Amino acid sequence: MTQVKNILVVGGGIGGQSVAIALKKAGYEPEIVELQQEFNVYGVGIIQQANALRALDAIGVANEAIRRGSPYGKVKLCIPTGQQIGEAGTPPIGHFPSHNGISRKILHDILFDEAQKTGVKYRMGLTIETINNHENGVDVTFTDGTSGSYDILIAADGINSKVRKMVFGEYKPTYVGLSVWRYAFPRPKDLDTGYIYFGKHSKIGIIPMTAESCYIFLNSAEGDNPLIPENQLVEKLKSYMRAFPVPMVQELVEQVTDAKLVNYRTLETLKMTEPWYKNRVIVIGDAAHATIPQLGSGAALAIEDAVVLTEELQKSNSVNDAFANFMNRRLQRCQMVVEASETLGQWEVLEYSGQSLPEGANMGMLMGKTTMALTAEI
Ligand SMILES: Cc1cc2nc3c(=O)[nH]c(=O)nc-3n(C[C@H](O)[C@H](O)[C@H](O)COP(=O)(O)OP(=O)(O)OC[C@H]3O[C@@H](n4cnc5c(N)ncnc54)[C@H](O)[C@@H]3O)c2cc1C
Repeated sequence: MTQVKNILVVGGGIGGQSVAIALKKAGYEPEIVELQQEFNVYGVGIIQQANALRALDAIGVANEAIRRGSPYGKVKLCIPTGQQIGEAGTPPIGHFPSHNGISRKILHDILFDEAQKTGVKYRMGLTIETINNHENGVDVTFTDGTSGSYDILIAADGINSKVRKMVFGEYKPTYVGLSVWRYAFPRPKDLDTGYIYFGKHSKIGIIPMTAESCYIFLNSAEGDNPLIPENQLVEKLKSYMRAFPVPMVQELVEQVTDAKLVNYRTLETLKMTEPWYKNRVIVIGDAAHATIPQLGSGAALAIEDAVVLTEELQKSNSVNDAFANFMNRRLQRCQMVVEASETLGQWEVLEYSGQSLPEGANMGMLMGKTTMALTAEI
């Protein structure tokens, strides 16, 4: 086991909280610094495939996520009138179902409660100001004027990571030409699993969140001018939804009423070049490999990063070996997800702008192949 005790985790999102829980349970002393004064997690859901549940199980919270979420089987892939053309998603792993839909807020609360229970220290409303990253540790100053010395710093501060920029230089996320619209609803009575309907100008997914609730995601290509004024969000989302005659979508259209509840954002990816570490600083989660949600796997990768990094710190004799072994186990898998998601995104952009897809392009097949690969042990 490496001679490491005090670990600073920058960012208290899914990746940051997962790694802090895993580390604390393994006997380390992690401390999270989080920029937000209070967590403000938006109210739509997230898809967890079986590999995400396996990773959550390693930190002790999979059963709670299933209890407070909505387990379901493979996702049905359909045309806009409802006819099924395929299915997607990881097969079940062990006793974990193919999928669990869960509210992001509930997932965050589960991680936060577990972190509190295990004694993880949080410092809210601040970030790092300076980093002195040397061979034996990291000295930092914080934006509240305090300072600290740590054995390791883990950057889990998301796609626009400040730590990454300070230690590894400038990276710019890549806009893939797509936007996503999300909205939460009461659960339709016919929603027996996840559904994705592929249209000519957009695709829509309906995902269970709890026994009583669900959310939709809808992808559209808004081109070079993707900013949409708030007062147009409701009508524009409804007009996209009207292109899907299947009754399950049509029942939801008139329930879209509040622009404040329309979660609209552009989609970006980011691939950090390897290695994702230097001296005693390592980058995990979206800060190292942000993907678009085409495979519903970004958060799963962040949780897996947390589990693998903790295992390697426990197994290896030096921090450098632990970081190098972590990279060996994570690089190819994370790249596979980001690159397959980018390809799926590019095909969607072509499709929605009326262009033909490259020969042999088959979204269902690429989704199936990639999600199947995610069942492999991490
Ligand atoms: C539209 C959309 C849908 C998605 N759907 C899915 C899905 O269904 N399934 C799935 O597995 N993944 C999904 N993802 C991906 C998933 O949301 C991310 O991969 C995951 O949230 C990454 O977690 P993270 O902790 O690495 O980063 P983040 O979630 O970005 O968390 C970073 C945290 O760091 C904090 N922070 C930022 N800067 C600083 C700083 N300077 N100092 C301190 N703290 C800081 C932030 O406030 C935040 O709390 C989706 C992503 C998008 C965009």
